Amino acid sequence: MPEVKNVFQRKKEVKDFDWKAELRTNVTTVEKLKEYIELSDTEEAEIREVSKIHPMNIPRYYLSLIDQDNPLDPVRKLAVPSKEELILEGSMGGTTADPYGDDKHNMGNGILHKYPYSALVVATEYCAMYCRHCFRKRMVGLPNDQTVENFRKAAEYIADHKEITNVIISGGDPMLLPTDTIIKMLSFLQDIPHLNFVRIGSRAPVVFPYRFFDSELLNFFEKFNKKKALYFPTHFNHVNEITDLSSEAIHLIRSTGTTVNNQAVFLRGVNDTVVDLENLMNGLVRIGVNPYYLYQCMPVERVRGHFQVPLKEGINTVTVAKRRLDGYAKRFKFIMGHDIGKIEIVGRKDNKLIMSQIHSRPNAPEDLSDVIIRELTETGGWLEDLPEVKL
Ligand code: SF4
Repeated sequence: MPEVKNVFQRKKEVKDFDWKAELRTNVTTVEKLKEYIELSDTEEAEIREVSKIHPMNIPRYYLSLIDQDNPLDPVRKLAVPSKEELILEGSMGGTTADPYGDDKHNMGNGILHKYPYSALVVATEYCAMYCRHCFRKRMVGLPNDQTVENFRKAAEYIADHKEITNVIISGGDPMLLPTDTIIKMLSFLQDIPHLNFVRIGSRAPVVFPYRFFDSELLNFFEKFNKKKALYFPTHFNHVNEITDLSSEAIHLIRSTGTTVNNQAVFLRGVNDTVVDLENLMNGLVRIGVNPYYLYQCMPVERVRGHFQVPLKEGINTVTVAKRRLDGYAKRFKFIMGHDIGKIEIVGRKDNKLIMSQIHSRPNAPEDLSDVIIRELTETGGWLEDLPEVKL
């Protein structure tokens, strides 16, 4: 593992780093994993079994964050396969392979046009790490050559649709693309007049911060920001992910004029206590990242059963955490990323859950800003689990 401290200088003098070579050292086998963390024979057998269905791929940096003495370590739970992934549904109830309704809104060329004003472009299906809670079942590795050509067609679609005011470049993790590919993609977008801003969604600052020690990339971000605002939604889930190195990556991104927002997922055994949420949100504000969304874990196969927290418990935890946080740290919205649109989970009154729809589908504009009230149950973790309430 390269020496972290004193290797990288801040902006301008940033020392470029061979992140592709580092990525090739990712841990993908049980044999390699055993060099980093202790595994019992049973755990070893379980990881082999699970990896056949969902492969393991963990950057060495991220493995170094695991507390060896804590079998329930949150970073470990996010990275290392567990036997719970063998259970399709579990006690939390039914699951789906497409909880966000992505397939219905796919316009081809990797574009998902769900809301009139936003277009989401799936630029790559590759990620630096295979997160165990991921709702998009993606591949890990390096991308193919079709990427730029597909993106060019996506940019043509965006240029033809004047109602689109912003683009989200997503994946997978777009930051796994080579720098020249990212530059070409952003260049396609920078002169489209009706676009106000562009977002690049990436978990790389958290799991693979080395990616940002790249002066060519940073210089281009700075140039792009002079034409259009660039936003960087990232994905920290636990305060232990906020390290010197990830903070340095965030600093470098911010130094280009890019705004960094965080979209965490609310996960059992990772950040499901008041203290976890408090530490995470305070830690984000400390490094200049805006807490933006806290997503309710989606009803995804092999994920929901062990990661989802019932809404009754979840709203209590989030409410108490918000009482303890200052105004900036509690700016995040507790969100259900539902097929009908984004729903903010606002609060609880007696045994009723109060929600508000903050985005709706183009074919149902009347749903926008709709208040939704449902009866809380002990185990309900998704909208459909909660009985409707007659007012
Ligand atoms: S980086 Fe994001 S898309 Fe990739 S596996 Fe992790 S959560 Fe899923």
